[in-house]
Amino acid sequence: MQYKVKILMMEQETHDVKRFILEKSEVFSFVPGHAMMLAINKPGMEKQSQPFTMTSLNDARVLEFTIKRYPEHKGVTDKLHQLNPGDELILSDMFGTIRYRRPGIFIAAGAGVTPFIAILRQLAKDNKLEGNTLLFSNKEHKDIILEREFKNMLKERCILTLTREEREGYEYGRIDENFIKKHVMDFNQEFYICGPDSFVASMREILQKLKAPSSEIIFEK
Ligand SMILES: Cc1cc2nc3c(=O)[nH]c(=O)nc-3n(C[C@H](O)[C@H](O)[C@H](O)COP(=O)(O)OP(=O)(O)OC[C@H]3O[C@@H](n4cnc5c(N)ncnc54)[C@H](O)[C@@H]3O)c2cc1C
Repeated sequence: MQYKVKILMMEQETHDVKRFILEKSEVFSFVPGHAMMLAINKPGMEKQSQPFTMTSLNDARVLEFTIKRYPEHKGVTDKLHQLNPGDELILSDMFGTIRYRRPGIFIAAGAGVTPFIAILRQLAKDNKLEGNTLLFSNKEHKDIILEREFKNMLKERCILTLTREEREGYEYGRIDENFIKKHVMDFNQEFYICGPDSFVASMREILQKLKAPSSEIIFEK
């Protein structure tokens, strides 16, 4: 099933991430964390679809995507960032990648945080954020997506680390075994991981070593 939807609004979230607000003319439902294939409805672009996660809630009257641009790829994200309100996108093939089960530790790097946006927003709406923690790694402060919202939702359970900038109030360095041991007291809970391939692989290795029972793993880039 394909949905053609117009862009209603675009907003710069960080220097290389934009929020895309789209009309939601068709009725479809999704679980927070789900993604869809998205293409630009312009000649020659209709078949170049890439996966992106819905960051709005299922019952919202509009759809939101939060998309990082990779100008050097000269691909879909580069073109998406150059669109304007009124331009049309083609959405297809909804699929589940990550799904909330019970309270736990969300570990994200960069734009890998997008499935956690919808999941945490839904938990906030349902008053069920209790017991959840976000460990979020970025290169520099300017790269952090939705910092204020995450801090508002999770308070001291929003732990931000910067790998290329030392800054007061932020951890410095990669998420490694020591970092996880410092911030996680209980390994008998859910772990949700999302980020580049190498990040996911190293988190998985660390968690297996620390005997975390299960972890949800998704995407690269
Ligand atoms: C399930 C899922 C959900 C996702 N959700 C989101 C989301 O919500 N938000 C988000 O921002 N991202 C998300 N992503 C990642 C997103 O899909 C990719 O960032 C996106 O596909 C990149 O598309 P692109 O066309 O710009 O570049 P690509 O398709 O990666 O690359 C286009 C071309 O550029 C070349 N290229 C590749 N890498 C490089 C490089 N390092 N340098 C130079 N050239 C290169 C290749 O030849 C390639 O053919 C998600 C991914 C998955 C799997």
